[in-house]
Amino acid sequence: MPLVTEDAVTEFDRIEIAPTVQGCLSKMTIMPGEQGGPVKYTLRAGEHRLDLNARLGRSLRLTWTGAIACTHCGRATKKSFAQGYCYPCFKKLAQCDTCIVKPETCHFDAGTCREPEWAERHCFQPHVIYLANSSGLKVGITRGTQVPTRWLDQGAIQALPILVVETRLQSGLVEVLFKEEVADRTNWRAMLKGEVEPLDLAAERSRLLTRLEGGLARLRERFGVDTIRVLNEAPVSFDYPVLEFPRKIVSHNFDKQPEVAGTLLGLKGQYLILDTGVINLRKFTGYEIAVS
Ligand SMILES: [Zn+2]
Repeated sequence: MPLVTEDAVTEFDRIEIAPTVQGCLSKMTIMPGEQGGPVKYTLRAGEHRLDLNARLGRSLRLTWTGAIACTHCGRATKKSFAQGYCYPCFKKLAQCDTCIVKPETCHFDAGTCREPEWAERHCFQPHVIYLANSSGLKVGITRGTQVPTRWLDQGAIQALPILVVETRLQSGLVEVLFKEEVADRTNWRAMLKGEVEPLDLAAERSRLLTRLEGGLARLRERFGVDTIRVLNEAPVSFDYPVLEFPRKIVSHNFDKQPEVAGTLLGLKGQYLILDTGVINLRKFTGYEIAVS
């Protein structure tokens, strides 16, 4: 009987020889957990993939090399615009235009869309209006294909798709309507502190659909009766891998301090929660990072 079993050797190797990998950050891949288990996080640095759930409770060091590569064209850029783009891409791409954040201001019909072909593929397809609970009740919109990624990126503990529409513009107009009643932002500090009470999203759906009946009817008149359809789905909930929520939020920022290190205490939204502070990795998309 050997003193050290093969499994133990593997575990030992993993701990002692933490290899350094280096590459440009993409936003983390977040997948729903299996059978209600915790959500699964994968760090992406260039070609490298790191299972972050497995790193919980252990040390993690991320060091920015000083380089940033545009997430669209790959060119080196001194500064990142709109979370990962070089300035020319930021000015040129439809995905960086203001109408992406405010879809109700869609430029397509006015003929001023920056990239009509891109828009045809991304904006002229079904969008979902959802309720989520990331730091209290909020409304949001996303392309049908981005469910549930969008919710996980926001650190929502619950979500419920309530309406489906045919275009991004329509989703923006519906969202404007809902914003009279519900927030559309996440209080990220509350989200990270875990100070979020569960909500009855199905009851909120009924309440809001009743309250906004008139506004929705007007939009259906404008776009067609079948363009805004009510979904009858069940709410989903997510459990994030967090050992300990921070009591006070201190933010790390590669631009101010290129080395971010600490014990990984949790993962929520696109944030790492370390014992030394939190960092929104999405904000640093394109930053070349050495991870160990
Ligand atoms: Zn670029």
